[in-house]
Amino acid sequence: MTIRPAVFLDRDGTLNEDTGYPADFRQVHIFPDAFEAVRRLKRAGFAAVVVTHQSGVGRGYFSAAALDELHRRFAAAFARRGAALDGIYACLHGPDDGPCDCAKPQPGLGFRAARELGLDLRASFMIGDKAADVLFGRAIGASAVLVLTGYGRGASSELAARGVLPAHTAEGILAAAAWILGQERPPGHGPV
Ligand SMILES: [Mg+2]
Ligand SMILES: [Zn+2]
Repeated sequence: MTIRPAVFLDRDGTLNEDTGYPADFRQVHIFPDAFEAVRRLKRAGFAAVVVTHQSGVGRGYFSAAALDELHRRFAAAFARRGAALDGIYACLHGPDDGPCDCAKPQPGLGFRAARELGLDLRASFMIGDKAADVLFGRAIGASAVLVLTGYGRGASSELAARGVLPAHTAEGILAAAAWILGQERPPGHGPV
């Protein structure tokens, strides 16, 4: 397996509007820019890996099977537009499940994806709209980009108050991707 860098992508508020606890793909509104962002990142040799907390399962709002079906259609929407996702990793735990290692900012989903997909985490990026996304990026050794869609504006103030700065703050997913593509790449990770 060739080791490659990834761009980890939060789902709600980053790739699609944050509408609470969507139980069905029809309730998911993907930002039109998200397809182009993923297409460009893939073309540059990055794996595109969604890391998302779907506590609606743990809370009993919808089943793990319903979430799988939603994600199957979510992935198909990206694949149809030439922006195939390499994986969707989700924490399904709710507040009553106690601590887990897969809810961001815990790094569990990132380490699992790295093992299963062969990812170079130090050469990777995380894009998300919450403080937990930025902290997750740092926890896995990647560079974190905060987007101002979703809860991004609140997260920006929260992070500043805590003295934690993302590597970059972008208006949205496409600007985040453009910034990543402008960064210097470690040797051996050029465009493919
Ligand atoms: Mg989010
Ligand atoms: Zn979890």
